[in-house]
Amino acid sequence: MATDKTEPIAILGAGAWGLSTAFHLLEAGYKNITVFDRASEIPSRYSAAYDLNKIVRAEYEDDFYTDLALKAINRWKTPLWGRNFHQVGYVLATSSEAPAKAVKHLQTALLSVKDHPVFAAGITPLETPQAFKDIYWQFSGPLSGFRGYHNRLAGYAHSSNAMADIHQQLVGKGVKFVLGPEDGKAVKLLYSDHDQRSLERRCTGFQVASGQHHYARRTIVCLGAWAATLIPDIGAYVVAKSWSVAHVQLTERESDYLRGIPVLNVRDLGFFFEPDPASRLLKLCPLGAGYVNTDKSTRISIPPGGSVTAPRDYIPASDEKKLRQLLRETLPWLEDRPFVDQRMCWFADTADSDYTVDFVPNTGDSLVVMSGDSGHGFKMMPIVGEWVVRLLGDGRQVQSRWQWKWIPEGKGSKDWGDDVSWRIGTTREIRDVIDERDRAVRARL
Ligand SMILES: Cc1cc2nc3c(=O)[nH]c(=O)nc-3n(C[C@H](O)[C@H](O)[C@H](O)COP(=O)(O)OP(=O)(O)OC[C@H]3O[C@@H](n4cnc5c(N)ncnc54)[C@H](O)[C@@H]3O)c2cc1C
Repeated sequence: MATDKTEPIAILGAGAWGLSTAFHLLEAGYKNITVFDRASEIPSRYSAAYDLNKIVRAEYEDDFYTDLALKAINRWKTPLWGRNFHQVGYVLATSSEAPAKAVKHLQTALLSVKDHPVFAAGITPLETPQAFKDIYWQFSGPLSGFRGYHNRLAGYAHSSNAMADIHQQLVGKGVKFVLGPEDGKAVKLLYSDHDQRSLERRCTGFQVASGQHHYARRTIVCLGAWAATLIPDIGAYVVAKSWSVAHVQLTERESDYLRGIPVLNVRDLGFFFEPDPASRLLKLCPLGAGYVNTDKSTRISIPPGGSVTAPRDYIPASDEKKLRQLLRETLPWLEDRPFVDQRMCWFADTADSDYTVDFVPNTGDSLVVMSGDSGHGFKMMPIVGEWVVRLLGDGRQVQSRWQWKWIPEGKGSKDWGDDVSWRIGTTREIRDVIDERDRAVRARL
């Protein structure tokens, strides 16, 4: 039966993936789309992409994601998306202190692009600190033992601005937005009674915090790290996890000095971007396995709220140490600058880094969930919504790796994905970070 494109579709979550979903459904002819978000304005400050910039690169150990990222990069280079894309290049490196896992990851990433028909011509191996300085003439640090490579066909996108632009486009084309902590925050999905024969129950809509019910033919849950708040079963394998983010405030002249530097990603320390010309902030992220917030009774990790309060303007001491080391090696004149706008940013992780884009089992074709971005989903924003259009058209997820996963009882939420090759270190509980911060505050009193 042909899909009726006038039936009401509700998209819950106006982050990177929810906005892309609305955009592509509209392009595909769907006419009755409403997007709900708990934030009062877009970009949502709760989105993992509420940020100055995100890396856009196609190095994956897996051709499947390399091909998707290449498609996304080509889309980033079109007029609609290109305003927010900066192809400044990308350097992947390790320092002299790097553990074997980081060195191996670097080698595998290089293999994935060095003979690639699209990337090969733009790859430059960097074997010595001087080779790095030839690209980043601004780097005056020792770059001790740095080795890596430069990929010319990559860079970053301004993620908050990309979300703001697409939101504006969608509003202009008639997509409705319901925003705010009362009217826009979905608190419960609504279901029909179980069908006695199939045991299926259809999702008929959802309730928002104000108590109001909304009905939709299809509900598409794009809540990122919050997916398990509405669909608890997904919490067995989609884990809310956070990484730290910090910034250095530069002067206008300092910002000019660093303009045009490629994204530098040192696998055992962290990464940073060219400064944002508008705010003159240099954004840094330490690399590590991240922090989870596991509820002791359900064993599900969702972002703090309720009894656990996220630390404010704080990042763990071990992360700060990595970032100071990164600056000492590269831009030592910034090493002791105060960090501003420090935060823990929540995304939806899976043990194998695969996304989920599928119908929720036993709900027919009424409820779709998109989550498990695994910290590499923003770059896909220009194409994510196409995956949903295909899913609705096909009536099932033909891409097995993106299908819903049933995790055997008792096995979920234990493997936090520390084995994934590009994660270095061990995942920690956010509670331990908060205790550590409190101890540090007490010690200073
Ligand atoms: C520190 C950090 C660095 C990253 N770096 C990169 C990178 O370099 N490259 C890259 O490609 N990706 C990166 N990512 C990942 C990227 O940000 C995510 O893949 C992307 O944001 C996922 O989009 P999403 O729409 O699934 O989730 P989000 O963008 O997080 O959006 C979720 C939305 O749901 C809304 N919401 C939550 N609960 C409710 C509710 N109950 N009702 C209504 N709305 C709700 C939120 O307000 C938000 O707008 C990074 C992530 C982090 C945390």
